[in-house]
Amino acid sequence: MKVLKFGGTSVGTADRIKHVARLIQSDSQNIVVLSAMAGTTNTLVEIADYLSKGNTPGAQETLNHLNLKYNNVIDELFDTPGAHSRAKAVIDERFSYIRALVRGEYSLAVNKEILAQGELMSTAMMDIYLNEQGVKSVLLPALDYMRTDANGEPDMKYVSTRLKRLLDLNRDAEVFITQGYICLNAVGEVDNLKRGGSDYSASIIGAVVDADEIEIWTDIDGMHNNDPRYVDNTSPVGELNFEEAAELAYFGAKILHPNCVLPAKLANIPVRLLNTLDPKARGTVIYNMPPDGKIKAVAAKDNVTAIKIKSGRMLLAYGFLHKVFETFEKHQTSIDMMATSEVGVTVTIDDESHLAALVDDLKNFGTVTVDRDMVIVCVVGDLEWHNCGFEAQAVAALKDIPVRMISYGGSNYNISMVIRSGDKIEALKRLSSALF
Ligand code: ADP
Ligand code: ASP
Ligand code: MG
Repeated sequence: MKVLKFGGTSVGTADRIKHVARLIQSDSQNIVVLSAMAGTTNTLVEIADYLSKGNTPGAQETLNHLNLKYNNVIDELFDTPGAHSRAKAVIDERFSYIRALVRGEYSLAVNKEILAQGELMSTAMMDIYLNEQGVKSVLLPALDYMRTDANGEPDMKYVSTRLKRLLDLNRDAEVFITQGYICLNAVGEVDNLKRGGSDYSASIIGAVVDADEIEIWTDIDGMHNNDPRYVDNTSPVGELNFEEAAELAYFGAKILHPNCVLPAKLANIPVRLLNTLDPKARGTVIYNMPPDGKIKAVAAKDNVTAIKIKSGRMLLAYGFLHKVFETFEKHQTSIDMMATSEVGVTVTIDDESHLAALVDDLKNFGTVTVDRDMVIVCVVGDLEWHNCGFEAQAVAALKDIPVRMISYGGSNYNISMVIRSGDKIEALKRLSSALF
């Protein structure tokens, strides 16, 4: 059994849904995880946003546009009146539900309910379409098995028990269709696994059913060696190990949700990144590959803030770093990168929501300087320290760009450098020229 996840662009139009329906036909009983159609989750976020601001007409108008789009997709997708009317009934029900939410009061729970509707609609349409084509597909409602615990982590035991029961009840299915992204939280409310979280759903499901492989189907032929949105002539990386993939995903390679790597890694299940628009392309396979002494790719993480805490008393003052870290913990702000010297420490964060209070507290331990609007550029590969020269090449590539801080040696897999966001694209281009 494999788990195949298709992202928003892969199911973004009626034609794409038909194409995916052809791709997923196989003799083994695979589980297909779908995102919402491209743009839908963004529109649902917009609707929830209008509602949170008390702008009900704004929410309604945006919803009407979305409804129209879905009606058109249904008209294009289905040939038989039976399938058409079944799909229309499901989509109408979803829109009536959102409409009722939009008429009520805003709350975080309502927000999550609204955001969940995209995946519920894409999967319903795919299931009905497959049935219309004579394929025995079975819809597995993610809200019946996907759940997070009190820490917001997937409750693997719960997921395993519930999902296996559902699979057992449907032994004669040819293919299973399920929603990515959505789940219940620890108190049983509808929730989600954060934006882009369908990849994470696929990995959790793959780990639970001990899949032969987890396939992430998207709009590009695998993990490229640099960000194709900013750099021309990037090329796909054939193989990565789990650690390299995790570093790239965390440091900005949008093709993969950062949390997606861990469940697959722990269960030792290969993850293959494939292109829906070019299904024959090799793509990228992520597995427990041995070190190969190669630099694989470059990525960049936006919206980074560097905070320097300089203390005249760090010299021989044990406990200084402890106090600094404790302060970050108190303000629920996690640290991405860090560099230390005898007189100070600089760390980076990507969440500024507690910045003012955090800085205020840090001033108890030293002089604090904040550099905002920075990015981390990250070179990833087999960078075990005996592999000579890689860090020199990476630093040399940025010789004309001001570098705020450098981190190397924290793992065997990355060299990270903090630069101004305005220098990002130039830095990515120079790294590509120097390294590949
Ligand atoms: P999906 O909707 O299928 O989940 P995403 O938009 O989340 O797709 O991810 C695919 C996109 O990731 C690509 O279209 C590409 O622009 C972007 N991307 C960023 N960095 C990389 C990279 N290193 N390799 C491949 N794609 C990347
Ligand atoms: N539909 C969700 C989003 O746009 C989840 C996903 O696509 O992975 O974030
Ligand atoms: Mg994605």
